Amino acid sequence: MRCIEGLLVFWNLLMAQPIAIAVHGGAGAITPQNLSPSKAQEIETYLRSVVEEAYQLLEQGRMALEVVEVAVRRLEDAGYFNAGRGAVLNEKGFAELDAAIMDGKTRRVGAVAATRSVQNPVTLARLIMERTEHVLIVGEGADSLAKLWELPPLRNQDMSQPEVIWTQGTVGAVALDKYGNLAAATSTGGIARKRLGRVGDSPIIGAGTYAENGLVALSATGHGEYFVRSVLAYDIAARLRYARLSLKEAIQQAFKERLEPIGGTGGVIAVSPQGEVAFYFNTPGMYRAGKDAQGHLSVGLFR
Ligand code: ASP
Repeated sequence: MRCIEGLLVFWNLLMAQPIAIAVHGGAGAITPQNLSPSKAQEIETYLRSVVEEAYQLLEQGRMALEVVEVAVRRLEDAGYFNAGRGAVLNEKGFAELDAAIMDGKTRRVGAVAATRSVQNPVTLARLIMERTEHVLIVGEGADSLAKLWELPPLRNQDMSQPEVIWTQGTVGAVALDKYGNLAAATSTGGIARKRLGRVGDSPIIGAGTYAENGLVALSATGHGEYFVRSVLAYDIAARLRYARLSLKEAIQQAFKERLEPIGGTGGVIAVSPQGEVAFYFNTPGMYRAGKDAQGHLSVGLFR
């Protein structure tokens, strides 16, 4: 009997822990003029389903790291976004993909850059974290690991087709699990017609992706060079750590003081250790959705 009571207390304690998830599908010229109402509706429904599924996994007690990977895989597979199947092509006419994943509990990291052959770079990034001693593997090395680990090959859409020109950005997910762990993941095709071998902010820890328990989980999207030059994700984390700002203040200040003075545009999603969700962007729109610790769902595309 005691044992059952004990279990119940433990269960209730677990149930009381905040959980939260947020995802993005990129920031940019996402406006009602550039997107038909039916396409906007379709993308909104998709984002909502990714968030609801991820939230359910968190409710079931799954770890933040696993949940951000699952969410980003769904976004990579969608074909709506500039990641996985939907990735834009470089100047040579093929996709080179970047991705990163970070476990806020251990600050372990896995990342890939300029991989050409894998449909879900986020999974390759996670395996690099778990199966190698390295944090970032690029190009041929990343492709050969994908082959070795038998990851499904990339079946890239033809992005020159007019019906996919509305495809905008990078994808990302941030989560807080029941155990207080934060995690972040970002995946992208980068910038259309980019130079061969160009790498953006997404796989660079502290620029486009960052997670640390007790502090924040962040995923960015936008013009990557500026996010790298601003070390934006870590700058937001540092403001939280040292200046003890609120999540919104830290993000706003980092944009105003670091990104915008050098001309950077884009957005971030973030989750706090308390299960607060934040979205911020200085572009006309950002594909975004989230569900916070109170169970409040938000989905948006435009400003
Ligand atoms: N940040 C990505 C990059 O520069 C692109 C994007 O978010 O749309 O590679």
